[in-house]
Amino acid sequence: MFLRFVSFVALQLVGGFAGWYAASYIYVTTSALVGVVAGVVLGGVGWFLIDLSRGVRLLRWLRVGDASDVAMRTGLWGEISDRARRLIRAREQLTRDSQNRLQDFLAALQASPNGVVLLDSEGRIEWFNQMAAAHFGFDAQRDMLQHFGNLVRDPGFAAYFSSHDYLSELVMPGRESTPARPVKLSVHLHPYGEGRLLLLSHDVTALEQAEAMRRDFVANVSHEIRTPLTVLGGFVETLQTLPLTDQERERYLALMAQQADRMQTLVSDLLTLSRLEGSPLPGALDWVSIPALMRQLEQDGRALSAVLHPSSDRLHKLEFSCLLDGEIAGSSIELLSAMSNLVNNAIRYTPSGGEIHVRALLLPDARAEFSVSDTGPGIAPEHIPRLTERFYRVDRSRSRDSGGTGLGLAIVKHVSQRHGAELKIESTPGKGSVFTVIFPASRVRSESPSSRQAAGIAVNG
Ligand code: ADP
Repeated sequence: MFLRFVSFVALQLVGGFAGWYAASYIYVTTSALVGVVAGVVLGGVGWFLIDLSRGVRLLRWLRVGDASDVAMRTGLWGEISDRARRLIRAREQLTRDSQNRLQDFLAALQASPNGVVLLDSEGRIEWFNQMAAAHFGFDAQRDMLQHFGNLVRDPGFAAYFSSHDYLSELVMPGRESTPARPVKLSVHLHPYGEGRLLLLSHDVTALEQAEAMRRDFVANVSHEIRTPLTVLGGFVETLQTLPLTDQERERYLALMAQQADRMQTLVSDLLTLSRLEGSPLPGALDWVSIPALMRQLEQDGRALSAVLHPSSDRLHKLEFSCLLDGEIAGSSIELLSAMSNLVNNAIRYTPSGGEIHVRALLLPDARAEFSVSDTGPGIAPEHIPRLTERFYRVDRSRSRDSGGTGLGLAIVKHVSQRHGAELKIESTPGKGSVFTVIFPASRVRSESPSSRQAAGIAVNG
């Protein structure tokens, strides 16, 4: 400011001196005072014009100038230009920061496992992430600023959108949903800002399936328990109300014991399944002897066959061959439970006189194979993929009559999976079935091939 004043006064002094000089020596007819006054005024006007031109330069720079440099460096205008440049730079930095933050924020939304769609106050799509694109089949080029309701034509969603009640989410069919393979999407709208909406979507197909399975499971268990309970209740009532002979009483009590056994087997299978689901995987360092397992299977199998067919001429032809003198890493209880389910099924479903062959052998690639083959009724191909589902039975009455719970093969599947093994089912209706469990080489420890034959002889003998 001081410099401005000094330059203003200096220019007027120079003007005044020049006016005096001109009046005194050049235009001698003019009075010296007039020359001085005219010089001072011209000096002031000159200073003003120079100042104005600097101001105009600054204004031009402010309009279109490069913020990396200043319009001028000195004087008041220089300082204004420097401060304006700093302000512009700070503003530019702020804009860059906000843009970076916005990009980070959008990248985070992009990485979200949920579908995210931002809708404006009219319900038009402003932005969506890839997951939302997959859920609704959106295209980033084509569908921006389209009305969400025009692209997702679900009556349930239309009603939800127009209800303006977004407290709960809506479950609607997904884009690729078919009756055979239903896909379910959960969609939830959240109002924000001025009338805008945030739409979150996620695929709940697996959840819905799990929920349906849970419902089916509870219904199945209730049904399975209710049947023997009803029978038991009926017998109790008969015993209480009717005068019965000792013989009749004995018969009824035996039938009641049978129903109680059935419930016991069911509960024990359910507990086995829940233990399999809830316990840690069987260790790879606990070794189970295969010949010992086969001996136990043979003992139990022969006992069951004898119970089912008490007269010795109608017994099954049972054959147990252990061609592998080795061990399997895993849980002996689980392995015995799975294998005896296969052997028991073969015995229960194969009519008397039929043949059952249980075999353990080492495959050329060092995997171990357990197989149970029978000459029973066999299973039609359409049932095979569903056999390991809980409570799935090909023939309900036959399964129940033979004491089945419908959980045996579900247990076999679980145990196989927990031991990294593969369960294969081959069957020809009218001819028989072969159930095979193949354990990976990493879980098998075997003796030399020559000792395998010896092991087979030991078990069979
Ligand atoms: P269940 O307790 O009814 O035997 P499983 O899960 O063990 O239940 O078996 C499921 C169904 O598979 C059985 O109901 C039966 O229809 C069929 N099945 C299992 N093993 C055999 C077999 N060896 N021969 C014929 N059918 C079988």
